[in-house]
Amino acid sequence: MSLSKMLLVRLFIILIILLILPVGCGKGIVAPETPVAVKEQIENKPGVVEKSPVTALPEGKGTPVLKATVIYVVDGDTVHVRLENGRKEKVRFIGVDTPESTRVVELYGKEAATYTRKELTGKTVYLELDVAQRDKYGRLLAYVWLIPPRENSKTEVQKAMFNATLLLVGLAQVMTVPPNVKYADMFVEFQKEAREAEKGLWETIKAPVPAPISNTASPEIKYIGNSNSQKFHRPDCQWAQKIAPRNRVEFGRREDAIKAGYQPCKTCKP
Ligand SMILES: [Zn+2]
Repeated sequence: MSLSKMLLVRLFIILIILLILPVGCGKGIVAPETPVAVKEQIENKPGVVEKSPVTALPEGKGTPVLKATVIYVVDGDTVHVRLENGRKEKVRFIGVDTPESTRVVELYGKEAATYTRKELTGKTVYLELDVAQRDKYGRLLAYVWLIPPRENSKTEVQKAMFNATLLLVGLAQVMTVPPNVKYADMFVEFQKEAREAEKGLWETIKAPVPAPISNTASPEIKYIGNSNSQKFHRPDCQWAQKIAPRNRVEFGRREDAIKAGYQPCKTCKP
């Protein structure tokens, strides 16, 4: 074998080693307990959304979940966790939204953050993923269970899934973002329960509804007519107050009074 040929063979061997090496190292990073399908998703680059192999796996018993520890609570619906393999992830809860945008709601936003901090900090949680496993910010999207889910029944969800808890205590609203809709119907039910019980943020939302602004279809009385004199008035006119109930006619719009043949009062000039 000539010197140049030997050199070529060596280069070739080095090249092959370099190609194989990173694959071998990569395998060591992932905890052996993590289901294969989930592993692949977790290792995806943030923002890369792929059709999930997780949903293809049998549901109910043995639904793949990621065991994790909550290490930091950002706000009511976002936490940082450490997975079993040591990897840190920012997790956004699926299907719920804790308030934060308006002045009134911000108060409940703080309450929601405090609640999540109190309930989840340092806790072991089980992250159930749905079809889309990351959002555009690269955050992991999850249903956060306090116990490993067994049958994913309504009772179980109500008892042990934190996303549902936030809705039930009235500290979050339903926010359905397809394709992650596995528990969407249940979430709507839980929100309804909280709303009917006026829990948390529903207290303010149920405050008196302001009168409709529309003046065309409004049933409000705008003008009062006297069927005897065929005059019509503004409701606060002294003559309007004196109309006998049997002669009193109400009009929603001025043109209705005119059409009915009524003349505007010269005192209140309606
Ligand atoms: Zn009048």
